[in-house]
Amino acid sequence: MINPRSKTLSVHRWPLMQIYETLLARYGPQHWWPGETPFEVMVGAVLTQNTNWSNVEKAIDEMRRAECLEPRRLLALSQAELSAMIRPSGYFRVKERRLRSLVRWFVDCHGGSVANCSGIPTEDLREELLGIHGVGPETADSILLYALDRPVFVVDAYTRRLLGRHGWLYGGESYEQVRAIVVSHLKPDVALYNEFHALIVRVGKANCRPSPRCVGCVLEACPRIEDSGRSRSPKETISWKPKTS
Ligand code: SF4
Repeated sequence: MINPRSKTLSVHRWPLMQIYETLLARYGPQHWWPGETPFEVMVGAVLTQNTNWSNVEKAIDEMRRAECLEPRRLLALSQAELSAMIRPSGYFRVKERRLRSLVRWFVDCHGGSVANCSGIPTEDLREELLGIHGVGPETADSILLYALDRPVFVVDAYTRRLLGRHGWLYGGESYEQVRAIVVSHLKPDVALYNEFHALIVRVGKANCRPSPRCVGCVLEACPRIEDSGRSRSPKETISWKPKTS
């Protein structure tokens, strides 16, 4: 829970749409997710856990060469075969189990077809995904947004860093609280959520690193918590009322 004593921040926040439009004007569309099919996006969402994308690409290239980027073909692989293919993505034994669990769910519950998921409410799908071994909120939401075209905002470390530095978070919020803050200030739009998350990652890699490089950053003019000296004001509060997507 948020510490009630720190429920206000004095920084004059830019609206999230202003942040989004500023990022988009500088970087342009990011064309996420970098996967050729929804199934490939699902696979990538698991493989990208705790590693960078270039390692995931190597694993996916291996799978593509072996023509097993298809749910039932992937499940037909032995543990050793699948582990060897995804080895470049790291933690391959753990990821082999997680990937197999995800694909097993996809095949058993939805016939291995994205079209079969189309009539299912987003929150129900999210609940199913969160019940799968190794699928946490970030992975579930990445799959919902980028593979299944659902208006679900993805929260990651880049999101927390950028929004925290620009007065949108107090620090210590749960995943669901950050998600609720964001979606309560944006319209539920798949294209917007898709692009916004990708742009946050883009600026996160370029400038908003653990040690921020604010000089020359596209958001340099956007007020920061550091600029305000972390002072508190009773006038501004951040609403984080949970909201379903
Ligand atoms: S590097 Fe600085 S200006 Fe850029 S997004 Fe991060 S906190 Fe904002």
